Amino acid sequence: NKYVVKKNHIDGVPNESDFSICEELLSLKLHSHVSNNVVIVKNLYVSIDPYQINRMKPHSSSHIIASTASVVLPGQAIEAGGVGRVVESWHPDFKTGDFVSGLLHWGEYSVVEGGQQLQKLDTTVAIWLLQEANICKAKVFEAVVAFTHLQKFFASHKLLKQVGSSGITAYGGFFQVCKPKKGEKVFVSAASGSVGILVGQYAKLSGCYVVGCAGTKEKVDLLKEKLGFDDAFNYKEEPNLNLALQRYFPEGIDIYFDNVGGEMLEAAVENLKSFGRIAICGVISEYTGTQKRAKLDMVGVIYKRIRIEGFLCVDFVDIYPEFISTTMQHLQTGKLKAIEDISYGVENIPTAFIDLFHGNNIGKKVVKIAQE
Ligand code: NDP
Repeated sequence: NKYVVKKNHIDGVPNESDFSICEELLSLKLHSHVSNNVVIVKNLYVSIDPYQINRMKPHSSSHIIASTASVVLPGQAIEAGGVGRVVESWHPDFKTGDFVSGLLHWGEYSVVEGGQQLQKLDTTVAIWLLQEANICKAKVFEAVVAFTHLQKFFASHKLLKQVGSSGITAYGGFFQVCKPKKGEKVFVSAASGSVGILVGQYAKLSGCYVVGCAGTKEKVDLLKEKLGFDDAFNYKEEPNLNLALQRYFPEGIDIYFDNVGGEMLEAAVENLKSFGRIAICGVISEYTGTQKRAKLDMVGVIYKRIRIEGFLCVDFVDIYPEFISTTMQHLQTGKLKAIEDISYGVENIPTAFIDLFHGNNIGKKVVKIAQE
């Protein structure tokens, strides 16, 4: 079993030397997991997410405790959402050949406690999605995760926490936190990323005017030409973000969906209208250095009565059925496009993760580990 470990605590932007690939005999590992409930899963897809960096820092504990994700210790296998197939099971609910999703590892196999970390997928649905991918061709991973919830009755807080999905993050963050109204002006950062792509499209489907920012011309073109954004710009080419936002929103912004924090958040606050809303989904520019933290004009926040709200995807368990039905419908009718960015093989997991912090992904980053 080949798997990725963090060599040391990561302070700043992650790089290849922070990780190594270990190899172990699964039979040896099993000796240390004497339990009736153990399941060995052959990993098929694993999720790569920016928040993982916050579990790898030297001083991450207070945030991590707040979000209930565990700290990754040096030398430890790294947990991540994933989809796989059971190769051996000592748990009564799982048998060899079952498709499962849940909290797996960045590696070839995961040795997990069946009851808590795994959910079984309906085999026919899983095979259909993995092989045919009819429902949303480019979004197999997300679709499988979505179906898991559908079957297992989404209302379980535990399930959602474990797989974490950008779809519910975008949906809940936009509709519940931002509370959009038709005609409002929406700004989305990291707009070509996994969450941002969906937020922009949900905003368009709600009749809003949407501008996104991203870090390359290719991404900007995608947003404007394929994903229906009203406008988009490359923030790396803007010497002054405040002036850039004034140009795109001469009358001000009603809603800012923040994926990046830092200077972009400062500029958005400057350009927000009175009674504007800011959803703090993520602050990726701040994950790699405290010196990059946003310094906000709080007097402006008061006088403009701006509402700034952070959230976690686990907050939206109650609207999961609504999210699934509307999103699946829009995907089927082509009103919503989902994009996956796939890397291949365990060896490429560290690079795939590091790439997120250099803008080298478009859409949801996953690593395909094996063919089912
Ligand atoms: P993305 O797919 O958006 O990948 C990250 C993107 O962020 C990169 O492609 C890059 O695009 C951009 N980026 C990287 N570094 C910087 C930087 N220093 N400044 C500005 N932009 C940067 O990731 P996700 O869609 O999965 O996540 C987006 C955000 O949402 C993250 O902050 C993540 O932590 C958060 N999140 C929060 C959740 C919650 O429950 N609250 C759940 C899931 C995600 P570009 O080319 O635009 O620079």
